[in-house]
Amino acid sequence: MAKVRMEKLQAARMGNHALEMVSDLIGRFGSRLTGTPGCTQTAEVLASELSTYCNRVEKEEFSLHPKAFLGWIRILVTLYPVALLCIWLSLPLFSLLLMGVGLLIMVYEFFLYREVIDRWYPKVTGMNVFGTVEPEQDVRQTVVFSGHHDSARVFNFYTHKPHLYMVRIGTGLGAFLVLSVVSLVQTIVEIFTGGVFAIGVPAWAFIMAAIPLTVALPWVIKLWFFASEEGTPGAGDNLISSAMAVQLARYFKHNAENGNPLHHTRVVLASFDGEEAGLRGARDFYARHRNDPEVLSAKTWNFNVDCPYQAKDLFFLTSDINGSVKLSQEMATKCVGIAQSMGYEAFSQPIAFLTGGTDAAEAAKAGFEAVSLMAMPWDNKERSSVYHTPNDLPEAIDPKAVEETLSIAIRFIEQADAAVQHS
Ligand SMILES: [Zn+2]
Repeated sequence: MAKVRMEKLQAARMGNHALEMVSDLIGRFGSRLTGTPGCTQTAEVLASELSTYCNRVEKEEFSLHPKAFLGWIRILVTLYPVALLCIWLSLPLFSLLLMGVGLLIMVYEFFLYREVIDRWYPKVTGMNVFGTVEPEQDVRQTVVFSGHHDSARVFNFYTHKPHLYMVRIGTGLGAFLVLSVVSLVQTIVEIFTGGVFAIGVPAWAFIMAAIPLTVALPWVIKLWFFASEEGTPGAGDNLISSAMAVQLARYFKHNAENGNPLHHTRVVLASFDGEEAGLRGARDFYARHRNDPEVLSAKTWNFNVDCPYQAKDLFFLTSDINGSVKLSQEMATKCVGIAQSMGYEAFSQPIAFLTGGTDAAEAAKAGFEAVSLMAMPWDNKERSSVYHTPNDLPEAIDPKAVEETLSIAIRFIEQADAAVQHS
């Protein structure tokens, strides 16, 4: 028991250092939308902090098109009135094509995080940072602990009248879907009546459908302003995790110097950029290093952390990117076991549809064992009230959540090292 108490004390101290670093960085650089100077300068500071403790530190630039990720919203908002007009003119094939293109872009870019329209959006340069702490003997496995330093765009619908969030999104998205279905049905009907390419007066049933769709127009147009041009301070999402990475580097370096090194496990402490633009930084990192034995091993674990706000809500994701990517249930179960053995509450669960994705997905897609630790209520109904708002400040983070995250990560890494040593 004394050992656990010591570990918790140490983790609490490390957590406080991490929180101080977050306050300091936000004070100096403000919000950190990817590609902005504040974001890159934060990455530079993280790299220099890591270099105190790591065997090797890299800053890696990559290019991305951050506006593409939510670009589907404005595309659909633009297509909607045109498609609706086509319904009124009895030209449903055109509305079907327009809505079909818009919805496909939404599905590929936003449900699946694929890069289909990126090239048409302005390019910026992002910067990933990572450091490695090498084991005493040969490397048999690698654990990547990761966070992201870029911050999110403020979601206006969370800031203004957040209780109406689901109604506003539901009305807007519902209108897109209903308009698409109406276009499809009207197209089929007109194919059989031979008027699919002729302007005319729609049948009364389609007029009845077009009226509410026209009434919904103002709600659709409001979606244009879903994401603001402003970035959040992004303390809990997710600079705190990058700051924890620095503390972990320091911890493992310090332990090694005190005769308590890891034996066969390399620890990579990573802070990615471009997470809020669709996991683009993590994607670049795993593409670059997937087969690079200097950084990753055939056996690699990714302990990703995102949004560690409240200890009581701590959990591990077992799937990612709206349910389309499987994470490691084995690793999640291990982590939950570690948490409970230390007296913390934790559980594992799949990601809820339409809540997005985390950087762990990119590790999993590269073939590695990955989980994301999160600590906030995570569904569309009761998300943390600071998430993607200007209130995502250091005060919003419960120090206990940071302490627990650190101690679970440390134990996970030490147990994994002990397991390979004896295998
Ligand atoms: Zn995040």
